[in-house]
Amino acid sequence: MKKHRTGKSTSSVWAGEEEYIMSNVTQVPVVHSVSFGYKDIDEWQQVALGLKKGHIYSRNTNPTVAVFEEKIRCLEGAEAATSAATGMGIISSVLFGLLAPGQRVVSVKDTYGGTNKIFTEFLPRFNVEVCLCPTTDHEAIEDEIRKGCDLLYLETPTNPTIKIIDLERLSRAGKKAGAVVVVDNTFATPINQQPLALGADLVLHSATKFLGGHADALAGVVCGRRDLIDKVYHYREINGATLDPMSAYLILRGMKTLALRIERQNQNALEIARYLQTHPQVKTVYYPGLETHEGHEIARKQMSGYGAMLSFMLKEETLAAVGKVIGGFRYAHAAANLGAVETIVGPPATTSHVECSEEERAAMGIPESLIRYSTGIEDAEDLKEDLQRALARLG
Ligand SMILES: *Cc1c(COP(=O)(O)O)cnc(C)c1O
Repeated sequence: MKKHRTGKSTSSVWAGEEEYIMSNVTQVPVVHSVSFGYKDIDEWQQVALGLKKGHIYSRNTNPTVAVFEEKIRCLEGAEAATSAATGMGIISSVLFGLLAPGQRVVSVKDTYGGTNKIFTEFLPRFNVEVCLCPTTDHEAIEDEIRKGCDLLYLETPTNPTIKIIDLERLSRAGKKAGAVVVVDNTFATPINQQPLALGADLVLHSATKFLGGHADALAGVVCGRRDLIDKVYHYREINGATLDPMSAYLILRGMKTLALRIERQNQNALEIARYLQTHPQVKTVYYPGLETHEGHEIARKQMSGYGAMLSFMLKEETLAAVGKVIGGFRYAHAAANLGAVETIVGPPATTSHVECSEEERAAMGIPESLIRYSTGIEDAEDLKEDLQRALARLG
């Protein structure tokens, strides 16, 4: 056959891509490739069977996503990690990947709104019993664990009521009953709290929040015991809620400044909480760093910083009053998000518990007049002035 020049169509497809110059980059490449090719079928098979390191298809694993999983695994001090497209994606994968019909979950009333929906609406459909205890009643939680518990699910500090649960104490109770102990560590981040060191089996995050820190990408991740992570991964790869490489890259980029951001946010939040305590329009401030907070002693024991999240109740207990304040901020986004470099405010009715009805929120003990405040990295003086301006609209 006569040698001919490669055609334009073939060149459009292949030119420049036959060899990848991947070495010597100093930043993580965003690998958008859906699949990974192998000339050697034996090698391909070995990778497919997990006997050799590598990637086959990006719904299962992807090099950029793997770097993200490795970074958080190291931060949480875990054996293994796996991710999903969102925080809810990883929470569903944990629950549906580990539980079977006839089993029993013990958790608390104040979990994230979406998690609460899985507990009350979806798990019961599959004949999984869910018992939701009063959030800070440790004796009641221990009693329910003793009655039988396959999975203990905890979240601390809670969203949006900022309640504190003793992780060491309840992990011990869970382990004794043979339960898998899962902790949502989204609010604290591994900088402020390390649930695995306190006895949990799995720690998970909505990486959308503090890990990413810039409110521009959704992701979820779970770290912990290898055998459990394998099961969660297996469910997620089939269920298909896979994290895409571009989002993984954005979260990775954000994570480089995680410790710096959290350090500043811890300081700012404590200063804001103290300021709000003295404000005449504010009835109650919920922040674990305040000596007056009911969970302060536990927080002091298990957290190395009290976090960026606080909430406060106005003296005027109406949603209309909340609306007035929310509309008065200059340096805070009024939005259904948290954990970003910018300060973000919102009431539970339009943020964490938007999925729940007013009655359901009341049953969970979440007042309509609560304002959740996610402290950013701005200057504390400017944030205090902004709060003063917004609260002055009530006067
Ligand atoms: C936001 C959030 C989730 C859900 O995460 P998504 O990324 O929005 O799916 C779960 N838990 C907590 C504590 C959260 O704040």
